[in-house]
Amino acid sequence: MNIILLGPPGAGKGTQARILEEKRGMVQLSTGDMLREARRSGTEMGQKVAAIMDAGELVTDDIVIGLIEEKLNTVDAMGFIFDGFPRTLGQADALGALLESMGQGLNAVIAMEVNDDALVARVLNRAEEARAAGEPVRADDNEESIKTRLLEYYKKTSPLIGYYHAKGDLVWVPGLGTIDEVEAAIAAVLDG
Ligand code: AMP
Repeated sequence: MNIILLGPPGAGKGTQARILEEKRGMVQLSTGDMLREARRSGTEMGQKVAAIMDAGELVTDDIVIGLIEEKLNTVDAMGFIFDGFPRTLGQADALGALLESMGQGLNAVIAMEVNDDALVARVLNRAEEARAAGEPVRADDNEESIKTRLLEYYKKTSPLIGYYHAKGDLVWVPGLGTIDEVEAAIAAVLDG
């Protein structure tokens, strides 16, 4: 089973992806995590994307498509949870082609419904909690970058809602409930 978690920054995609990993043996593929890892290990690509990520803008399609292709070719899983990918129509087409070449497809695209005020508060709260716990704070979890990330989402990623709706893959779940409530709503989609 392969699914996409689609939603703006702060919608809770990462949290739900980790729950699905634990409970269903699926594997989370987060391009954001892969890019942060590339930065930490100081690769050439990591250095190239650092300033773009900190500003809250999208990195180029070829970089993230390459990252996903490598994982699909090397990781064996009961199914993949695409988290933060695809974020553009070009990425969505590329993902469709990659899965098709593996004889697979998408089972569902789960769109998480949230409102912008809650998002900004959630992301700032995530930064505050990390700071209080003495953990590293994401450089893009500040008010200015969050605004850019939301704009990028509406300009470049939200068209995917129409794209997957037209393909018959789109399902909405309310993203504003508790973690357990959102988990239950996603489970109902996957098991329904
Ligand atoms: P995330 O952890 O998903 O919020 O991603 C953090 C940042 O990494 C984004 O703001 C982008 O700069 C970059 N990024 C992650 N995934 C993608 C993607 N699929 N396409 C373009 N940029 C991405």
